[in-house]
Order: sequence, then structure tokens, then C-alpha cells
Amino acid sequence: MAELLIVSLILVTLGAVAAPRVSRSAGLDRQAICTSNLERINSAIETCYNTTGQYPNSMEDIISDKHYFPAGCPECPIRGQYILNADRHAVCTH
Ligand SMILES: [Zn+2]
Repeated sequence: MAELLIVSLILVTLGAVAAPRVSRSAGLDRQAICTSNLERINSAIETCYNTTGQYPNSMEDIISDKHYFPAGCPECPIRGQYILNADRHAVCTH
């Protein structure tokens, strides 16, 4: 019975140590996905510029174009929104 208690305490201790690391790792993964999404959107913006000679006037112009995003615009996994900055490049609000 004492062995079971000791094993339980060890498992609880390991869980308490591991949980914050798992959470932080998931946060880094979501940030990486957001960065990757921004790279895709900015690549589409540059392709638009190289094709038409103009940057899109709004984020809606680029994300609604099925030529660039046939499956729809990617969404920020951290609940931010992608917007155009003054340089006509996408940034995230998160
Ligand atoms: Zn984001």
C-alpha cells in the first residue's frame, strides 16, 4: 500500500512539472502557425503586386481571391486577425 502511495506521489509530481512545459510548447506551436500563415499571405500579396503592379487595397481583396487561397484564408490560431499595415503587408493583431 505504501508503494502505491509513493508511485501516486511521483506521478502527481511529474504531472505538475510537465504540464507547464506542454502548455508553453503548444503556445510556441500556435505562434509558429501564425508566422507561417503571415508568410503565406505576404507571399500572395507580393505575387499580386508582381502580377498586377499594385498592392491590394485591403486584406479582403487578397484573402477573398480564390486564386491565392482556394480553401479560404488561414486563421490565426491565437485568435488574432490578419490586417494590412501601412507598408501593405500582412500583420497579426494578436
Ligand atoms: Zn496571430
